[in-house]
Amino acid sequence: MTRKQYCDIFISGGGLAGLMTALSLADKFSNIICCDPNLEFDSDSSGLPQDRRVTALFNSSLDYLANLIPLEALLTDCGKRLSEIEIVEAGGKGKLIQTTSFKSHCIDRTEFGWVIPNENLRKALIAKVLQNPRITTLSKNGVEKVITRTKEAHILLSNGDRVVSRLVIGADGKNSRVRECLGINTNRISLPQSGITFNVRHQLPLSHKSIEIYKSGGPFTIIPLPGEDKYSSNIIWMDSSKNIDIYSHMDSNSFAMEVTKRSLGMVGNIEITSPLLKWSGTYQMANKLSHERAVLIAEAAHNLPPIGAQGLNLTINDIKLLNEQLDKSEDPGDFKVLKDYYSIRYLPTLLKFVGTNFLNLMSFSNILPLKIIRKEGANIFANNRQLQSMLIKFGLGEGLFEVKPFSRKE
Ligand SMILES: Cc1cc2nc3c(=O)[nH]c(=O)nc-3n(C[C@H](O)[C@H](O)[C@H](O)COP(=O)(O)OP(=O)(O)OC[C@H]3O[C@@H](n4cnc5c(N)ncnc54)[C@H](O)[C@@H]3O)c2cc1C
Repeated sequence: MTRKQYCDIFISGGGLAGLMTALSLADKFSNIICCDPNLEFDSDSSGLPQDRRVTALFNSSLDYLANLIPLEALLTDCGKRLSEIEIVEAGGKGKLIQTTSFKSHCIDRTEFGWVIPNENLRKALIAKVLQNPRITTLSKNGVEKVITRTKEAHILLSNGDRVVSRLVIGADGKNSRVRECLGINTNRISLPQSGITFNVRHQLPLSHKSIEIYKSGGPFTIIPLPGEDKYSSNIIWMDSSKNIDIYSHMDSNSFAMEVTKRSLGMVGNIEITSPLLKWSGTYQMANKLSHERAVLIAEAAHNLPPIGAQGLNLTINDIKLLNEQLDKSEDPGDFKVLKDYYSIRYLPTLLKFVGTNFLNLMSFSNILPLKIIRKEGANIFANNRQLQSMLIKFGLGEGLFEVKPFSRKE
């Protein structure tokens, strides 16, 4: 027999974004439901598909996360401080042309942020969600349909149950079902490019620095893996779909040699230590971030190329603003509150979307003028400390200006 439940907030998606959102809103709302068709929300998280990715989280994001989970313990057990980002320009024949180094002390910080394995972050969030009596989790159960009305949203779940909620939050990833049900379109940027990510061991140490190597086809990023070991890193490699297809079908020795070559030997010889995870080069942003009784956050709203560690940091800013807006009314689905969320959040998100896609296109492209802009751009920033500091702050999401909500027509 199917059931009908009522709640204040319904969150579609139990990824990092959905879990953080549930915890962040649980102080204010007593009845939150979070569902996911692919997850078993259990205490040892054993039902979770393994996520070998790591995420670099900036200090402002970590400050916020510290309100939700025991962050100190997580960073001590499995985090790595990130205090330098090196941008490297490589020539067509794989030669190092120019290196620009951004150090956290340029902006008077000891670090930009920390690298955390997604798996550990997710386990810490799930543990807190399960302890919270205000949050109900629905394992292996997803959103099928959403219909919104002025006073509430009606949700049909994949097991046939129904939920009536004052607000629906779509945190259900880049193929968001909530977004689709609400009829919200996306702006898409599609390149004949793909990405792979995997872990490696290397000959030379890399301690608290990540390296982004730009060459036609896409960026190649080396991120030190958490822990004391200075010889293990995560690689994110974006290249033409044709090349990625060739690399991902190579035997492991040939692939390791190809990876060493693409890294310009900056960390010595490389050995592959994990399977490859692949994705396509389509990135998108929703045309609207809110709707009657509904809001979109995280990858449901913006799916960016993984450049400059922007994705989850941007999501944490979505969650911060959503909390600030929901503090303004007793009704979480208040029309003005949601409309203001959209108008404040849209421009900064669009800038990040355009910025990361532009960087990706410049890196992907073999067109000479774009290659010159890329090289000269890096040169200008390398030689101007003030510009460097501005760029770092923008990258860290600390904003160069504040956006006010548009005035609403009565
Ligand atoms: C290689 C790579 C490296 C990255 N590195 C960084 C980094 O260093 N720093 C950074 O800030 N960001 C980074 N990102 C981005 C970051 O990983 C993502 O922003 C983040 O993991 C996405 O979280 P999410 O919860 O929005 O989406 P997801 O993790 O995709 O979660 C969505 C959830 O929704 C569920 N779902 C699907 N359909 C339904 C349905 N019908 N009903 C209910 N639930 C549903 C799914 O099962 C899933 O669990 C990186 C991304 C990639 C690809």
